[in-house]
Amino acid sequence: MIPGFVETHIHLDKSCILERCGPQQGTLEAAIAAVAAAKRAFTEPDIYARAQRTLEKAIVQGTTRMRTHVEVDPRVGLRSFEAVRALARDYAWAIDLEICVFPQEGLTNDPGTEELLVEACTRGADVIGGCPYTDSDPFTQIARIFAIAQRFDLDIDLHLDFDLDPSWMHLEEVCRQTQAHRWGGRVAIGHVTKLSAIAPASVATIARRLADAGVAVTVLPATDLFLMGRAHEHHVPRGVAPVHRLVRHGVTCSLATNNVLNPFTPFGDCSLIRMANLYANVAHLGAMADLSSCLDLVTTLPARLMNLADYGIAVGHPADLVVLDSRDRALAVAELAQPLAGFKRGRRSFTRAPAVLHRPG
Ligand SMILES: [Zn+2]
Repeated sequence: MIPGFVETHIHLDKSCILERCGPQQGTLEAAIAAVAAAKRAFTEPDIYARAQRTLEKAIVQGTTRMRTHVEVDPRVGLRSFEAVRALARDYAWAIDLEICVFPQEGLTNDPGTEELLVEACTRGADVIGGCPYTDSDPFTQIARIFAIAQRFDLDIDLHLDFDLDPSWMHLEEVCRQTQAHRWGGRVAIGHVTKLSAIAPASVATIARRLADAGVAVTVLPATDLFLMGRAHEHHVPRGVAPVHRLVRHGVTCSLATNNVLNPFTPFGDCSLIRMANLYANVAHLGAMADLSSCLDLVTTLPARLMNLADYGIAVGHPADLVVLDSRDRALAVAELAQPLAGFKRGRRSFTRAPAVLHRPG
């Protein structure tokens, strides 16, 4: 029994659009461009229906808490935000869904975007996000996001350092601003794939910096494996940040799904036990203790990242319970143990029948 999986980083609003995006080049830039074109035609009922399909998959995979990133800009306006907000209300019986609004295509270079983000925060967005790598002025974007966070008293969750060039990073500026604003423990950064291109001794130094500043890290193995290393035709780098090394230095970390059935990641069953297994496989983790800690990366650690004070099986907490078909934490990751049933605040929210063998005779 676990208190449910915790998904810190998923894009419900742009899930399930694979069929309308055409053939894919497989690069980050092409994925952003394809979705930028597609989202102009998004309507609230269309966004709701696709997000609902993805959210229901996550629920039956045992996820009880979720933070979804939602794009806000002059092309899509607040349609995605409003559709996902309605979805969060309609599925509150099964999952706690937190909305992080963010400017996927840049902030300072995209007039009107900041006003829309502020309007979303006024209407009740839970978290403010960012994407400095698509901005013509990344440091100013980071500063503007911190200003919005302070104004509305929100946690911050940024897409950051999403390539394999270790010669420059935005990570240090985020740590600096986190400390300057005394926002430690309230800032997360996602992807940070550059860390996969840096030697362990330097990663250790960066990890201590992150831990000191109170900046958490989310790694998105499916997307990072799919989009990174495209310049290589053989001996392809994996491009997944070594999150288990960061954890050893006290960094709060999570593994998350990110994208489902779109040009960023044309896969997705929303299973976080699969993500834990995928990470263990990619990171060469095989010892029982290491496999067990991969379960922490989709349960207790992401709950800490999201500052969920009432997560965990304990007196006084809501009875969020998920039954995994396993007798051991490490084996659950090794065997991709499937959830058999889930309860949200004490009420049964889903069941999955175990497979049955039909022997002859
Ligand atoms: Zn993302």
